[in-house]
Amino acid sequence: MLNRREFFTAAAGAAVLLRNTKTFTASPAKYDLIVKCGRVIDPSVKLDAIRDIAIAGGRIVAVEANLAGDASDTIDARGKLVVPGLIDIHTHAARTKEGPPLCLADGVTGFIDAGSQGADHIADTVAVAKSAPQPGRVLINIGRAGVIPEGDTMDINRADVALARAAIMRNREIIAGVKARLSNNVAGANDYEVLRRAQDVASSFNLPVMIHMGQTISPLPKLLALLKPGDIVTHMFAPPPNSIIDDAGRILPEVLAARKRGVWFDVGNGRNGHLRWDIAERVLKAGFLPDTFSTDWSVEARTSQVINFPNVMSKFLMLGMPLDQVIGCSTVNAARTFQVFRGRGTLKAGAPADIALLELREGIFEFVDNYENKRNGRQRLFPAGAVLGGKRIAAAS
Ligand SMILES: [Zn+2]
Repeated sequence: MLNRREFFTAAAGAAVLLRNTKTFTASPAKYDLIVKCGRVIDPSVKLDAIRDIAIAGGRIVAVEANLAGDASDTIDARGKLVVPGLIDIHTHAARTKEGPPLCLADGVTGFIDAGSQGADHIADTVAVAKSAPQPGRVLINIGRAGVIPEGDTMDINRADVALARAAIMRNREIIAGVKARLSNNVAGANDYEVLRRAQDVASSFNLPVMIHMGQTISPLPKLLALLKPGDIVTHMFAPPPNSIIDDAGRILPEVLAARKRGVWFDVGNGRNGHLRWDIAERVLKAGFLPDTFSTDWSVEARTSQVINFPNVMSKFLMLGMPLDQVIGCSTVNAARTFQVFRGRGTLKAGAPADIALLELREGIFEFVDNYENKRNGRQRLFPAGAVLGGKRIAAAS
């Protein structure tokens, strides 16, 4: 279903097209861009078929087989997957201004910088997010100094509620939530109090909290009890202590209860302590699938483990998730998490024309978890270009 605004935009687009056809009765419809003959996979409408996509005025106008009409620009997508633009809800893309354009070239048309900075230097990540080509928002780290080697909130005084609130007040339009990193090496024994303070900040603005779980001192159920609907648990495949699954292979009842009340569970690939193949396998086998995929991407992660969003998606193909679900986690599901992405993650008529082109290659591909365990997969997705707001973006080289 289109919401009201999408409906009116789509209706307005259709009216323009009708007018055009009336004026030039003999000439076919004219579009800004057509993405031709790709395998279009859009889980938001359960579509997987060879289709053309017509774009005008920065929005999707039609998705049809053998679309008639002219366009100022055409992308030949034969042999490629054409999917809604990827939405990465856990990155560190806003650490540097090169970050957002680099991940855009991988097909990421929307991103969240998840807590790179706290109150002291939030202006830096806010400035990068503001100048990013694609929609980008930041989560403020409850630790005022952001991510630091000695542990963001090892000193509990760094979890400063008043400073975080003031920072949000100054940047209401770009700060989309609060990040609480809770591992033993980040928060030590302060984990519960750090999360309590993060909620204190977030709830005064009606914003979500994202927790970085895994290897905490407090038991996970105690931490989950502080999460409200719309909050996000990232690093869901983190190995013990305090994993989401017990030794007998059962998902903790508190984890199931959290999901039931609307808490999202996110991958957060990363490079340290977040992903181990055997845990991921056991969790998936127990039927507990991720809501969203995310990379924990940074410019440094381009050369090890994470590489890019399509590579992270490929790991879940290897683990046995079907392609349409893998794409759904990266698009329509991710669009539900933060306000800025509402109406995105889909190729429905009227939606912003954000598209990722991917190449699904067959072969033997090695994937590494965060513990240097290697696995071979038979398929890997590669970036093959993108469209952002109707404009063509070149693929990463
Ligand atoms: Zn992170």
